[in-house]
Amino acid sequence: MHHPYIRYFSVLNTINLLLIKYDFINLLLHYRATMTDLVNPYNEEDCSKNVTLNIAITGMTGAGKSSFVNAIRGLPNDDKNAAPTGTTETTMKPSMYPHPSMPNVKIWDLPGIGSPKFRAKKYLKEVNFHTYDFFLIVTSERFKENDIELARAIKKSKKLFYFIRTKIDNDIRAESHKRNFDERMLLENIREDCKANLLKVGIPKIFLVSSFNLEKYDFQKLISTLEDELPENKKFALIQSLPVYSLEALIKKKTYYKKLIWLNAFAAGVGAIAPIPGLSLVCDYGIIKTFFQQVFVGFGLSNQALKALSERVNKPLEQLKAAKTSRFKDGSTEDIVIDMLSKPMIAIAKTLGTILALLPGGALPAGGTAIMAEDTKNVLAVSQLA
Ligand code: GDP
Repeated sequence: MHHPYIRYFSVLNTINLLLIKYDFINLLLHYRATMTDLVNPYNEEDCSKNVTLNIAITGMTGAGKSSFVNAIRGLPNDDKNAAPTGTTETTMKPSMYPHPSMPNVKIWDLPGIGSPKFRAKKYLKEVNFHTYDFFLIVTSERFKENDIELARAIKKSKKLFYFIRTKIDNDIRAESHKRNFDERMLLENIREDCKANLLKVGIPKIFLVSSFNLEKYDFQKLISTLEDELPENKKFALIQSLPVYSLEALIKKKTYYKKLIWLNAFAAGVGAIAPIPGLSLVCDYGIIKTFFQQVFVGFGLSNQALKALSERVNKPLEQLKAAKTSRFKDGSTEDIVIDMLSKPMIAIAKTLGTILALLPGGALPAGGTAIMAEDTKNVLAVSQLA
């Protein structure tokens, strides 16, 4: 006969285990939704269920809104799918630009806010402010009264907003011929000046950027801030949609893909031990191929991304293409996936679930991801961005 305390503890333990299992199933359900969305973003049917991220870019006409929209979509201003730049706006409607490879990430070029009759509340209503996950208020000079009024109205509506001071490359160029020129000091002065202009907003978050050089200045800091402030699934979507403009951006993406692989392996592994009805992942070779293809596009290795990069860094496209040397250089092909899966241990496994369960930590997709990351590093090196 057990001591009553032991019985008591064993009942407690059972309850605890049940609770843990309940949490665990919830966690899996949550991540499974996120994973399916992210692993298979091209599936039309899945798109409606996808995590959507709506980014609003606003500010005065000429501030550099459209150029910034194009920069975060990884497109040069003269791309046929780019937002038109350098034009005088006539429309009061927001223009939506889907991300080229992740249509669930939508970047909205909002109408200019320069009019003297501007009313922030009315403007927010007209642009359907509840659509957006966050607002970027863009200026290329000092922030003006309209920017401040807009920020205060956004704050009231409990949405996230950030200030972007664009065309920093112009400021640097204009000052760089001076004797005693100190880039760091200049940036600090611009930052302080912006802060002084925005005193009425509380503690503003200001980022200095150049749409033509995302790798420089504060763009990375903006992304890190968004990472801290956005919900987990939105964060995933944001990081995966960003162009690979630097080694730092590549490392960030790699970490996210690793997380995705780990979550996948985690769910699959558990499924293999104790099948939970409705939880087994629908996985096949196709999913692995799609996953690799997404990494390929996400790492900026597609022809479209290299073309945009070649124009931006002024290097011949062929030279950038030649920097890719791995077996994945032309993307995720059937041959590579079949070859990878034909290793003796893996060949007997029928699904991605069992494959990942066989390989702790999802070594197979992680391997492919690491190989492609090397290609990207080489491309960045040739582009003199790393
Ligand atoms: P919008 O009216 O706010 O959409 O502004 P645009 O994106 O059309 O930009 C207005 C002008 O500023 C265009 O000629 C752009 O090429 C230029 N521009 C925009 N962003 C930058 C930048 O970061 N650096 C430089 N040097 N020029 C920029």
